[in-house]
Amino acid sequence: MTLKRRKKIVGNWKMNGSTVFARTLVSDLLEQLSPALTEQVCLCPPMPYLPMVAEALGQSGVSLGAQNVSSYNDGAYTGEVSATMLADIGCDHVIVGHSERRTLFAETDAIVVSKVAKALEQPGLTPILCVGETREEREAGQWQAVISRQMQAVLEGIDRAGVARIIVAYEPVWAIGTGLTATAEQAQEVHALIRQQVAALDSAIADSLLILYGGSLNDQNAKELLSQPDIDGGLVGGAALVAEKFARVCNTLAEVG
Ligand code: PEP
Repeated sequence: MTLKRRKKIVGNWKMNGSTVFARTLVSDLLEQLSPALTEQVCLCPPMPYLPMVAEALGQSGVSLGAQNVSSYNDGAYTGEVSATMLADIGCDHVIVGHSERRTLFAETDAIVVSKVAKALEQPGLTPILCVGETREEREAGQWQAVISRQMQAVLEGIDRAGVARIIVAYEPVWAIGTGLTATAEQAQEVHALIRQQVAALDSAIADSLLILYGGSLNDQNAKELLSQPDIDGGLVGGAALVAEKFARVCNTLAEVG
């Protein structure tokens, strides 16, 4: 029996914004977001704005996520932010292994696994694990091997109870911030493959696993992508910086179920 998964939209602001921007964006978004959908939406502002955004979100039901977490516990790790701190300030989600972190900050699969593990030590924190292939890897026909390697590292390094708490985001690197979106067919193919890989470990976990799509997702293409059977929501970058666009992406959930 296939489970009905509750879709989710996550907005990744990346390193953008200011206090004024954050306050305005949240207030505009809350005005335009369908009240029935707030619990399916998560905002990931830069670290310094997390407490402010938490306050602005209030009891709206919208979740708060960080864009990164340390693979260390609290202590002598200058510049790092631990999972305990994120949980302490009210984060319930954290993006882990975004392609920008993997490529610009040399995060290996092993580092990504350790960050997922640290997030999972906090009972209320959900890691959003990003996987995806580069343009060269897709053109060389290696996308399957790359995604399967990134997934396998986590499936081997995290116990089943932990895997059951993870959200996966498929983000083809060639589609992030480029305006090039994966076609609904391309994305569905990868999502189905990820689900199959998890099913080999545990079919119940695979059935309930949320797999988000990210890569130039916007208000124009959201409906088609989010209608695919294995696409359970989106991780949105650029379009999450404009309240009207992001609200329209989120409100698409009312149409796609
Ligand atoms: C992202 O930042 O994860 C992302 C998908 O960005 P964009 O929507 O701009 O491609």
